[in-house]
Amino acid sequence: MNHVMVRVYGALNDFLPPARRHVPHTVVFEGRTSVRDLIERAGVPHPEVDLILVNGESVAFDRLVRDADRVAVFPRFRTLDIGSVTRVRPPPLDAIRFVVDGHLGKLARYLRLVGLDTTCPAGARDAELADTSAHERRILLTRDQPLLKRKVVAYGYFVRQTMPQQQLVEVLRHFGPLPLAPFTRCLLCNTTLRDVPKSAVDARLPERTRQAFDEFRACDGCGRVYWRGSHWGRLSAIVEAAANLTVRART
Ligand SMILES: [Zn+2]
Repeated sequence: MNHVMVRVYGALNDFLPPARRHVPHTVVFEGRTSVRDLIERAGVPHPEVDLILVNGESVAFDRLVRDADRVAVFPRFRTLDIGSVTRVRPPPLDAIRFVVDGHLGKLARYLRLVGLDTTCPAGARDAELADTSAHERRILLTRDQPLLKRKVVAYGYFVRQTMPQQQLVEVLRHFGPLPLAPFTRCLLCNTTLRDVPKSAVDARLPERTRQAFDEFRACDGCGRVYWRGSHWGRLSAIVEAAANLTVRART
């Protein structure tokens, strides 16, 4: 039997049982075990980890742990640039794009509402979600920890909140600051919307809408037409609240 001392920092403690949070604790293992396997068995999904120190030295996920090692596991630092130190961080993304677990469908729609590129493949199994994340370099958002622990997932985040609006704020805070472009993307299919003249969508509008509105945007993906109708006020309020809460958290 081998014994290592593990200490987990910051928000990564969310994945540990209360007695092991924020304190050094002993983990027992047998045989060849990578540091990545060790921390995932302890509960922490590897995509949330930004730095691992073993006996004070930065190591990669495949470093084998040995008896009496001291392992420190850190989340992403907000105020400290450790880019030259860490050996577990994947290459930076050119753009922040998401693939969202189908159980978080409402969060997916809210992310599109603020203009963020978000796929949420209907009925996709875990393997498909993980592959989409890997191949399209999209950040996987889920509340399914085994899904996040799949090896191919390099970019991922466990959504802590359970209410969709709070989830939106949480994601904007975690990955922000992000360039937001509200009302530019189809809520249903993620396609970028384009402005269209009223004459182009006239035939598809209910009579009352035709009389009351003159500005329209259309989705070339699913054909849906958007205007500042009855949902617009409610959706604007969601956008505004999320933007305000996100800014407040940073100041
Ligand atoms: Zn659409």
